Amino acid sequence: MSNITVCARFRPLSSKERRDHGDGVCIRCMDTETFILKDEKEEDIIFSFDRVFCEKSGQAEVYEFLVLPIVRDAVNGINGTIITYGQTGAGKTYSIEGPGILECGEQKKGILPRVVDGIFEHNKPDKMAKYSIKLSMVEIYMEKIRDLFDLSKDNIQIKESKIEGILLSGATEMSIIDPAEALQSLSTGIANRAVGETQMNTASSRSHCIYIFTVQQELTGDKRMKTGKLVLVDLAGSEKVEKTGAEGRALEEAKMINKSLSALGNVINALTCGSGRANHIPYRDSKLTRILQDALGGNSRTALLCCCSPSVSNASESLSTLRFGARAKHIKASPRVNCNEDKYSKKHEALCPDKDESCKRIL
Ligand code: ADP
Ligand code: MG
Repeated sequence: MSNITVCARFRPLSSKERRDHGDGVCIRCMDTETFILKDEKEEDIIFSFDRVFCEKSGQAEVYEFLVLPIVRDAVNGINGTIITYGQTGAGKTYSIEGPGILECGEQKKGILPRVVDGIFEHNKPDKMAKYSIKLSMVEIYMEKIRDLFDLSKDNIQIKESKIEGILLSGATEMSIIDPAEALQSLSTGIANRAVGETQMNTASSRSHCIYIFTVQQELTGDKRMKTGKLVLVDLAGSEKVEKTGAEGRALEEAKMINKSLSALGNVINALTCGSGRANHIPYRDSKLTRILQDALGGNSRTALLCCCSPSVSNASESLSTLRFGARAKHIKASPRVNCNEDKYSKKHEALCPDKDESCKRIL
């Protein structure tokens, strides 16, 4: 059992923040893990995360610390999840996609293109194995799941399989044979997100975007098959409705986002408050929490990147993002290799770590 990895990332001040509020920053990094936030009442609040990335930290540093270990595990059959959380404009999409998915230079490349390289680089630990890599891309908008590879599929349902866990029923799975093809598919999905934007007259930060890589390893001359699912989640902005002054559709969107992010907070609370396993965990309260059930419920190596603006003008939003991260730090996970050979015994172990009789009956 280990805790999920939680990191904070502060982007540089934007030109608007500088223009409207000068150079005032509310964050001071003390070392690689500790930082201080000065809240609106000028009080210092100390945070200690697994790592803090300050404005000078580059994309490679974030990838190497937070993501690379998860990619290495995913190609060996262990599920992984990377989630970016924070207010709109805090740097979530920049961290995941970079300034552009196809051509933005090695230095600024985001997590996604690096994951693609990583999967192809690391998926040859066993020369005798056959690999298949699949990619799905969906967004959750107004509690509906839309396939970003096939816009006609605009109400994808979530299913749960005893063996494979949470699944998106009927979502397109692109077979990926090389990094260039993966990037091309991702770029198509991202462009489709923009199509939705104009149709719905909204911004992409109003939906949660989910990228799912499934890496399957079939060992030749052997019946075993290992499957690692790597999920990247670019969450919608976590800002409060009152502060944005949203009206009409924007208000409806904001309410829906708040509902799903609150559901995420409630799941985290339920997972981390004392009595643990005995608690009811309200995964079914939103599509987001249901999709993240494997990630939060234990069978995944999970990392959360809390993205924040460093500006004094956003101190209260940054504080709320960091408090969310501080709570999530207490979630425990015990991911396992997903191997079809002993699927039933592994499933049993996962559900019944204490050999609980009532749990045995369910199985
Ligand atoms: P979000 O997805 O959280 O709404 P974005 O990722 O779109 O926010 O970032 C908002 C703006 O800030 C973008 O113009 C982006 O390029 C810039 N930005 C975010 N993070 C960084 C960073 N670490 N370094 C440089 N620019 C950044
Ligand atoms: Mg964004």
